Amino acid sequence: MLKEVLKQIEQRQRFLLTSHARPDGDAVGSALACSQILRLMGKEAEVVLRDGVPRIYQPLPFADRVITAESVNGKYEAAIILECDSIQRTRLQGLGDHFLINIDHHVSGRPFAHVNWIEPKAVATAELVYKLAREAGVKISPEIATCIYTAVLTDTGSFMFEGTNEHTFALARELVLAGADPARCARSVYFGHSTAKMRLLGAALSNLHREGSLAWIWVTREQMEHVGAKEEDCEGLVNYALSIHDVEVAVFFRELPDGRFRVSLRSKGQLNVSAVAEQFGGGGHECASGCALEGPLSMAVARVVERLRAHPSVQ
Ligand code: 5GP
Repeated sequence: MLKEVLKQIEQRQRFLLTSHARPDGDAVGSALACSQILRLMGKEAEVVLRDGVPRIYQPLPFADRVITAESVNGKYEAAIILECDSIQRTRLQGLGDHFLINIDHHVSGRPFAHVNWIEPKAVATAELVYKLAREAGVKISPEIATCIYTAVLTDTGSFMFEGTNEHTFALARELVLAGADPARCARSVYFGHSTAKMRLLGAALSNLHREGSLAWIWVTREQMEHVGAKEEDCEGLVNYALSIHDVEVAVFFRELPDGRFRVSLRSKGQLNVSAVAEQFGGGGHECASGCALEGPLSMAVARVVERLRAHPSVQ
């Protein structure tokens, strides 16, 4: 499928690149790296993201060129959708009229585009972007390496998640040799948080609930407003609940402006949380997934916890 993706790219000149709403490191890193690769191939490439670039990824090369928009404006011959298991995940209007190329690594990935390159074994979509550059004969610049390294760093949970293996480290080595600076990348991602995020973490952890090997935390709109937190400040909070020694699955609930709850699920590997998220219309990976549920909070918690309880590993 890589060859087909490259063939379709070679036949066109103007590209829009996008990823999912509330973008994470892989979404931003993959889109930025891919846009640079296309430009080195002599193409025009613009990155458009529904929610812009979160604070911790703003130091990435060319992040300042990202267009924040709710719909596609401009003439493009194709749209490359990275790290999305459906077109809806982009939350960008007007994509459907374009020739679509889908590059993704989610287990919940679906062939929604004209060309679909889905590799669930890849630790990050950025790994596929790296392969694309190699296939296209594009030299990995320090800037491209930095974007791909940051994506791999974050999507493997700092090289800690299941699926991280010798190939991941071989890729990381290639990227460092190409000019990625591991300490600098890590500094932006792990030491670049807002004060509001730390205060929100405090609020979330004071709501910590335990049951068997399950843990869940939440934040309400009121708590977010109280500390001045933004949506992006919620990223990664669930990992603090998962970091407890006897927790197998952790869940984070965030109240949305319309009263529904956005749910982040994380597993240490025994329970496939993507399957649980898919039951509620979401998706993701075996160890990291998400979905949205109707409120009130007690109802959302009860529904998710009931599904998780049914699994032997959380008894
Ligand atoms: P997070 O909990 O960080 O928002 O998401 C964890 C993983 O699940 C990411 O790979 C993300 O793309 C995926 N994910 C989160 N929410 C949804 C959703 O509503 N639908 C789908 N299909 N995937 C989701």
